[in-house]
Amino acid sequence: MAEQGKDVFRDSIGTITDDGKRQWIYPKKPSGRFYKYRTQISWFLLLCLFSFPFIKVNGNQFLLFNVLERKFNIFGLPFWPQDFHLVVMAMIIGVIFVVLFTVIFGRIFCGWVCPQTIFMEMVFRKIEYAIEGDRGAQIRLDKQSWTSEKIRKRSLKYAIFFIISFVIANVFLAYFIGSDVLLQYIFVEPTKHISTLIALLIFTTIFFMVFAWFREQVCIIACPYGRLQGVLLDNKTINIAYDYVRGEKQEGRAKFKKNEDRPESGKGDCIDCDQCVQVCPTGIDIRNGTQLECVNCTACIDACDFMMEKVNLPKGLIRYDSEDNISKGEKVLLTARNKAYSAVLILLMGIMTVMLFLRNDIEASLIKLPGQLYEKKANNIISNVFRYKLVNKTSDNIEDIEFKLLSHKGEIKVVGLSGIQLEAQNLASGTLFVEIPKSELHKDREKIKVGVFANGKQIETTSTNFLGPRRFK
Ligand code: SF4
Ligand code: SF4
Repeated sequence: MAEQGKDVFRDSIGTITDDGKRQWIYPKKPSGRFYKYRTQISWFLLLCLFSFPFIKVNGNQFLLFNVLERKFNIFGLPFWPQDFHLVVMAMIIGVIFVVLFTVIFGRIFCGWVCPQTIFMEMVFRKIEYAIEGDRGAQIRLDKQSWTSEKIRKRSLKYAIFFIISFVIANVFLAYFIGSDVLLQYIFVEPTKHISTLIALLIFTTIFFMVFAWFREQVCIIACPYGRLQGVLLDNKTINIAYDYVRGEKQEGRAKFKKNEDRPESGKGDCIDCDQCVQVCPTGIDIRNGTQLECVNCTACIDACDFMMEKVNLPKGLIRYDSEDNISKGEKVLLTARNKAYSAVLILLMGIMTVMLFLRNDIEASLIKLPGQLYEKKANNIISNVFRYKLVNKTSDNIEDIEFKLLSHKGEIKVVGLSGIQLEAQNLASGTLFVEIPKSELHKDREKIKVGVFANGKQIETTSTNFLGPRRFK
């Protein structure tokens, strides 16, 4: 690690002063190759975030997480609480994927994909630059008293921040209650949904406070993923790093003097211009090494590349690289740990794929009514009563559903109905009797198999235990 400053910076965080006050960050407006790519990716991801609740596949919202009504759509496929095992599996895969990705590529997610960074740096910060100007102008504006210019600029900025926060709150709500319901709330009798409006305004205020005030503190203090970095990263992890070997050399970094021949001078390639610090949205100096505040936003890479070009030195003094490559020239991407994580990930993804293929569109269950054993009927018939539940996970209505006994000779009688109707993405439940001749039964508790048929075609099979008399004569 860089010698300069030793490790004093690790005793505090860049956004809190020695006396415990907030150190406000005024990052310089970034520009450059990575910023351009990040902007493009951000617009694409924002487009996805804002459009997914309004896209329909076979009549289903593309992404829906309706916890209250227990309806979930992923890529237009409806999932039910009965598919919870798939959700658990997907979450385990997600965690292992994130761990593996972080071990290899560090916090690349934070800089390129995280909604907090995207909204903060690509939406709210851009508006701030447009209204208040770049770093210098923002510092001046902050220091000046409440002149008409300051009141005008701040009011405009915060009004726009609040409107965008309100839009974000609405879009998030569309993920939870469905876009159709949301649009109905807005355009049909909005006065009947005042409680929803109040909830929206609370969330709008939270978003507003996050982007107008809390800002980088989310990544530094609140984000659990950020706190995990300490245990996930090692010297082989690819991170945004300052090449201190090249930057410091024997004589350390030094300001650039006009017409000097830096490579011959013995000084490091770092010209101590401070640009990497000024662009940093979390207020750190990447030359001190990897720090928990760094969200891998690439702004320092662009700033340093710009300066290197100006003084005719090779770009990449700050770049994506591992500590081992910088210090020893060792390029290792797949360590034993990475291979083990990859193997587990591939295995789980294989299991998940099989589970998805085996997932039924219709789910049936038969549960014995509590407190009921069996009933002896005429002609030596044994009868058991069950509660049936049918779940239709498809977007089509299913009509004329019947139950048939597959494993034994006997009959199934549904109470009150002939031909159950099952609406799209809905469930039906009721009571049925299973009647089996005593001669067919060999044990007092026997597994029976029941087929579910629609229009004569078998669409699901389920099984349950059938109770009979303890002794057979
Ligand atoms: S150190 Fe560089 S990559 Fe990390 S947050 Fe600061 S500017 Fe972004
Ligand atoms: S931008 Fe590059 S040259 Fe300038 S201080 Fe940072 S590391 Fe050194």
